[in-house]
Amino acid sequence: MRKRIIAGNWKMYKTSEEAKSFVREVIGKLTGSDKVEPVVCPPSLYLEELVRLTATSSLSIGAQTMHEEKEGAFTGEVSPAMLANVGVRYVILGHSERRQYFNETDSAVNRKVQAAFENGLTPIVCVGETLEQREAGQTAQLVADQVEKAFNGIDAESAEKAVIAYEPIWAIGTGKTATAEDANEVCGTIRQTIGKLYGENVASQIRIQYGGSVKPDNIGELLSMEHIDGALVGGASLNPASFLRLVEVGGNE
Ligand code: PGA
Repeated sequence: MRKRIIAGNWKMYKTSEEAKSFVREVIGKLTGSDKVEPVVCPPSLYLEELVRLTATSSLSIGAQTMHEEKEGAFTGEVSPAMLANVGVRYVILGHSERRQYFNETDSAVNRKVQAAFENGLTPIVCVGETLEQREAGQTAQLVADQVEKAFNGIDAESAEKAVIAYEPIWAIGTGKTATAEDANEVCGTIRQTIGKLYGENVASQIRIQYGGSVKPDNIGELLSMEHIDGALVGGASLNPASFLRLVEVGGNE
């Protein structure tokens, strides 16, 4: 049985006070469920403080990106060792905004996935197609290819712990969600790809999220699908009540 994972990607939003007050409110109201794992991914500046505030709660903290080297002359970057050192558990890698605005390539994503595992972090590996690629019928091939490249050189024992987020780029921040059936179909392709690389056992363990305009009123249908084990949520994760509702629905049957 795969434990669902609902992760909030705050992107470049919130002051330090807003971040702390969100976390205090959420951990005060989280009921804790063995069916769902809540995660928030704040800007890196707030990670250490939020890890400290959530230490005794079921809320995990993740980063939104990282560099792949342990340390070095990389002005402005944060390393996997630094994230691990302050107690961060998850790291989003290859988000489409990183690929689009910061030129993150499939091979950079692969190096980061390796570095995440080497440092005991769990990567949330993002894949997904543009609208043009969807309309050209390239989605399944493209997403399978992104998964294969991201997991190049990763052993089965690590791969099984990874989280993959299927995020169609045209659905991010646009209010357009993929239909639950379409999202499930692509998540099924991802599971099949993992099966081809690592066998059925790993394929049945790995958790696959859907992301792209997930809201409290559409998450239930998405989570009812066979291959969707959670959600990566931007806009609707910024408000504590909305985030709590997403987690609550995630804890339902
Ligand atoms: P959205 O963002 O929920 O605001 O569409 C999702 C994401 O970018 O992970």
